[in-house]
Amino acid sequence: MPEPAQLEGRTTELLQRLIRFNTVNPPGDEQAAQEFLRDTLAAAGFECELLSAVAGRPNLIARLRGQGDGPTLCLCGHVDTVLADPADWSVDPWSGELRDGQVWGRGALDMKSQVAAEVVAACALAEEGWRPAGELLVVITADEEAGAEQGAQWLCTEHPDKVRCDYMVNEGAGEIVHFGGRRVYGVCVAEKGVFRFTITTEGRAGHASIPRIGDNALTKLAPLLQAMRDRQPSLELSPEPESLLSALGLDPSDPDAALREAAATDPRVAVIVEPLLGVTLTPTMVHASDKINVIPAQASVKVDCRVPPGLGRDHAVAKIREVLGEDGFSIAFDEQVIGNRSPIETPLMDAIDGWVEEVDPGAQVAATGLPGFTDSRWWREAFPECVAYGFFPQREMDLFEAAPLVHGADERVPVADLGFAAGAYVHICRELLS
Ligand SMILES: [Zn+2]
Repeated sequence: MPEPAQLEGRTTELLQRLIRFNTVNPPGDEQAAQEFLRDTLAAAGFECELLSAVAGRPNLIARLRGQGDGPTLCLCGHVDTVLADPADWSVDPWSGELRDGQVWGRGALDMKSQVAAEVVAACALAEEGWRPAGELLVVITADEEAGAEQGAQWLCTEHPDKVRCDYMVNEGAGEIVHFGGRRVYGVCVAEKGVFRFTITTEGRAGHASIPRIGDNALTKLAPLLQAMRDRQPSLELSPEPESLLSALGLDPSDPDAALREAAATDPRVAVIVEPLLGVTLTPTMVHASDKINVIPAQASVKVDCRVPPGLGRDHAVAKIREVLGEDGFSIAFDEQVIGNRSPIETPLMDAIDGWVEEVDPGAQVAATGLPGFTDSRWWREAFPECVAYGFFPQREMDLFEAAPLVHGADERVPVADLGFAAGAYVHICRELLS
């Protein structure tokens, strides 16, 4: 078994190296970072391949073949990051500086940390001669932060045979939540769908100096905006919030009461749980007249609407009508993507459960979902049998410390959590593939 101290040291070092490759997407420019990871994995005995949709932006596929039959487990991650404005940071975002027991820099949480922990775990196992019963894959994608057209989406469409797997560990959850004396680690098994739409109101143009000469379409948006400010669609239960509420010690059979109780104990928990309990409506962009002195004949507001996994447009429309009513406006969908999920009870969940029991006895593991989406979506779509989970366990830094740092300034990760996560991946590989 690889030594915990060694896993922590190696993961820290690898993360620092990865942060120093600037992979802000766009443009991504992932080539150098991917070559470095390829060389690291190849030296440990992996068969490695770089596959590019466009020059300079390769995806990395590393494979450790096994002896006989068995499942394929894929440790997955993306090496690109969102941008960082150095003016907002206390350190150079591409320094990978080690300060106060934490590694600082863009990607320290999302998600070069997990990439480093996965690669170190995979290398440590391969170096000590361990071989999987099936196969161990490490897939590091490009272009996750800008839609995955040159990353996971392309890989799963163009090279399905190279990335097919039975189980996948990717980003999406894992930070500890302390709540009512409990310690809960989330495993992200599902991602909500996106049903963005535009609300349009109609009126009649006229000179703005005579307010009642026209019929102002903009003011007709006011009650609709007010409705979305006052409430969200009614709550609904699905397998992921059910698991999470239970682990938190809240009664899932009455989601409204559970949410009120969560808010009374720790409002931050309610903020995180609420979007998992149904359709959400967030108005974000508004447009009316193009001229200050013209009463608008038409006004519109764009709404970012997220829908629980598996549910489609009809469901979204019913929930929208519940909040906005039927009359006085029209709606048109601009984007429709149905959310996805993997089952909760699987050997991969058992492996995670077993690991948590070992390293943090008494803590709970809960299935949870993401209001947004990750590369897991492309695997679930291409390979319906693939069980894909988001899991990067952290206990030094909890969910509420980590969440604002993702895509934010001063992104950083405790060194202790890097070793913690690498240990989890070693355990999962051995459990599933031995
Ligand atoms: Zn990410």
